[in-house]
Amino acid sequence: MTPLYSRVAFIGLGLIASSMAHAMRRAGLASAMTGTARSAETRIIAREMGLVDEVCDTAADAVEGADLVVLCVPVGAMDEIAREIAPHLAEGATVTDVGSVKQAVIDAVAPHLPDHVHFIPGHPLAGTEHSGPRSGFAELFQNRWCILTPSEGHDPAALDRLSRLWKGMGASVDLMDAPHHDLVLAVTSHTPHLIAYTMVGVADDLRRVTDSEVIKYSAAGFRDFTRIAASDPTMWRDVFLTNKEATLEILGRFTEELFALQRAIRRGDGAHLHDYFTRTRAIRRGIIEAGQDTDAPDFGRIKS
Ligand code: NAP
Repeated sequence: MTPLYSRVAFIGLGLIASSMAHAMRRAGLASAMTGTARSAETRIIAREMGLVDEVCDTAADAVEGADLVVLCVPVGAMDEIAREIAPHLAEGATVTDVGSVKQAVIDAVAPHLPDHVHFIPGHPLAGTEHSGPRSGFAELFQNRWCILTPSEGHDPAALDRLSRLWKGMGASVDLMDAPHHDLVLAVTSHTPHLIAYTMVGVADDLRRVTDSEVIKYSAAGFRDFTRIAASDPTMWRDVFLTNKEATLEILGRFTEELFALQRAIRRGDGAHLHDYFTRTRAIRRGIIEAGQDTDAPDFGRIKS
């Protein structure tokens, strides 16, 4: 494939940035890549891996001459990074991000950017519970969605180029406005993570069931919560601090449903429980049919 960008700069070199670097290199989407991370340790690892062509010590150096800048840091760090890179951005460059929340990133980044760059916020709906430059892999975005949330006055050519980049990495692209993105993600990602964190916390607090029993019998369902609850604490702290309204709205609805199920259990209302679980099963079928998960037994886990 002909490269879409001549110089791509990654700010932050963790799971998402390293996966993008692998995917772009494999598909030949960028002529050159630079990057930086906050700690010297991460920068050393990235240099040893040859993750990008040049690992810079500062974000300002990394964006110099780049026609695409990808902000791959936790949502809470976006403001500080945007401030730092703004005076160094090349004329006509596109600035995008991969943050899990969109309106808060727009509020943090857009005010700092000069008029001569195109800001197109983005969010790939793909991830794992692992972090850092070694956790990335080229297939992460394969058959996943990337949501872009361009502002009303965006440049169509810059949007088209960025969309083609995500497609080149295997993703499908959807456009949304930022508040709608934040509500959708509160339902599909943010609240489920909070529930998983809570369930794992409950098991940790429950002294009548020993830790060894929790671990030994985890395949009964708990194990799937623990994978989600192992996700990066900084990233998820920032998600809840910045997608506050939407998460609280969905959490309110969740609590109401939970009370209704609690009442059905107390009253022995089997019909209510059965109807409810039949409805939820159909959602699972829809996810399989959309190719967003496998219906292999045990979620396709390989037996040793
Ligand atoms: P990660 O693996 O933890 O990497 C984060 C990177 O950001 C690290 O290189 C880190 O540097 C750097 N960083 C952290 N704080 C910084 C700061 N204050 N200034 C400069 N650099 C800083 O994280 P990730 O999973 O790639 O997530 C990155 C972004 O993608 C987040 O906004 C997240 O919401 C979003 N996202 C994540 C997932 C997921 O499942 N993980 C999915 C979709 C989107 P050091 O290594 O030196 O600390």
